[in-house]
Amino acid sequence: MIYLDNAATTRPAAGAVAYAETFLREEYFNPSALYGGGFAVRGELEKARAGLLSRLADGETYELVFTSCGTEADGQAIFSCARRGNAVTTAGEHAAVYESFRELKNRGVEPRFAPLNRDGSVNIEALLELVDERTSFVSVMHVNNETGAVNDIEKIAKEVKKRTPSAIFHSDGVQAFGKIPYRLSGAVDLYSVSAHKIGGLKGTGALVKKKQLALRPLVFGGGQERGLRSGTENVFGIVAFARAAAEWGNAEEHLPHVRRLNEMVRGALENVLILSPEEGSPYILTLAAEGLRGEVLQRMLWERGVVVGTGSACSSKSRFSRVLSACGYPERVLDGVLRLSFSPQNTEEEALAASRAVNEVISEFRRKI
Ligand code: PLP
Repeated sequence: MIYLDNAATTRPAAGAVAYAETFLREEYFNPSALYGGGFAVRGELEKARAGLLSRLADGETYELVFTSCGTEADGQAIFSCARRGNAVTTAGEHAAVYESFRELKNRGVEPRFAPLNRDGSVNIEALLELVDERTSFVSVMHVNNETGAVNDIEKIAKEVKKRTPSAIFHSDGVQAFGKIPYRLSGAVDLYSVSAHKIGGLKGTGALVKKKQLALRPLVFGGGQERGLRSGTENVFGIVAFARAAAEWGNAEEHLPHVRRLNEMVRGALENVLILSPEEGSPYILTLAAEGLRGEVLQRMLWERGVVVGTGSACSSKSRFSRVLSACGYPERVLDGVLRLSFSPQNTEEEALAASRAVNEVISEFRRKI
């Protein structure tokens, strides 16, 4: 199998799975338990927290709260901080942010959606025009999961704060963490990440937040995660997240290889429209075979042992991608979208074989219609 759907989820790293198993089979104590086993597990959990945080930010200014997934980290940020006036985001957000913003309306906060550029990045000028003195919260994703476009979140956060210093700035970093070299520098207040996009397990995420920022919990109960996220911690998922991040390594070290894979596929594909920007994240390569159906191509590829996505897996229920529509593409293009997404473990041979398979299924499909 050639697996090129890594933006949907990655294969769990072997070391992370083995480590998680220890905490399922042997070290299964409750981290709040006041005996040796509990203390030891608490220690591992805190080590995982410190390890993950150190990859993203300095521990003086920021802290990290574990959540049940990237979606929850986004929701925690949004519902905690967007509580008055208006809140601004982009039309390109993942459903985790987009649908939460739509929900804000029911809670008395006006959601505002900034338009996209053709490549899926946000139109910064238009976004800034939506920010005013009543804006309490702004959320701009770091890497667009459908096109790979990278938003310059540091620049945008600084501009937003120039306009409205009290506005809180959040970024969904789920597709960026471990893939795009980045450290939080102070302008961004909150940043969401998810374990399963970098070799961790599904069902574990984290919200990195400025220490000085007081949040209101989404989940109330026993007061775990310093009162911000009650519920007995998902210890095996958390330790596996930290182990997976360590095994994954630094974003910089993988970039040349993943860029090469991306370039090879771009060079080898025939008769397709590439929707992903060249200067975007090399991990995501989205293309359209105009006039064809992406899901049919996806199934034909699956039968050949090549696994790819059709836009966002989370939005696969609707026929057209909301995000790619917002980029301004016509239905002929939106119908035929495939997303190839890489991991550092993919090889050049796989990239070439997958490109050949994509070319073949497109020609075969075209012959049939
Ligand atoms: N944000 C982005 C940009 C994503 O791509 C995803 C998952 O695809 C999420 C959020 C949701 O993360 P999770 O699956 O951990 O809830």
